[in-house]
Amino acid sequence: MPTTALLASCELPTSYGDFTLHVFGDPEGGEDVIALVHGEPNPHQPPLVRLHSACFTGDILTSLRCDCGPQLVAAVRLMAQVQHGILLYLPRHEGRGIGLVNKIKAYALQEQGLDTVAANVHLGLPVDARDYRAAAEALRRLGVSELRLATNNPSKVAALVDAGLTVERVPHGGFVSPHNSEYLRVKDVLMGHLDSSGGGRAG
Ligand SMILES: [Zn+2]
Repeated sequence: MPTTALLASCELPTSYGDFTLHVFGDPEGGEDVIALVHGEPNPHQPPLVRLHSACFTGDILTSLRCDCGPQLVAAVRLMAQVQHGILLYLPRHEGRGIGLVNKIKAYALQEQGLDTVAANVHLGLPVDARDYRAAAEALRRLGVSELRLATNNPSKVAALVDAGLTVERVPHGGFVSPHNSEYLRVKDVLMGHLDSSGGGRAG
């Protein structure tokens, strides 16, 4: 994996609050991690961090096939409310790392009755191909060695711990609609998530 370097930064006022935006990546290969940082480090409490995997259909088009859109909005709102919050947006994580084309192929298979895991297996693809090393490197470059991670996904915690960071897990809300309840149930049962379908808590 190429080294993750800081490529560009700017101030970014949003309707949720004021942030500093940093783009990390490989100058040749494009962006790996976009960090939206709110506030200043607090010596008494590690920053609150959320890792958000890019989801074109959910984040941009408000697709109801997944819960990514509301998760992203809740995360940006949450970061704007805490003293030091960092949202890491991961453009290479589309479709849990299999990319947009394969994700849409998997959606088409789901329309024929396969669940989200079986569809990937049918396509000969990993169920989860996401790599968090660039996210861990971006956190280190932001001066973060200890953090509170807002997630229900134990594999995200494990990946950052494996990368040498000290991580405390903070539960993050799930968003249930008639279209995504089966998807969220599969995430819980087959993928080891802790409480994605547990209710409509925001943040
Ligand atoms: Zn999504």
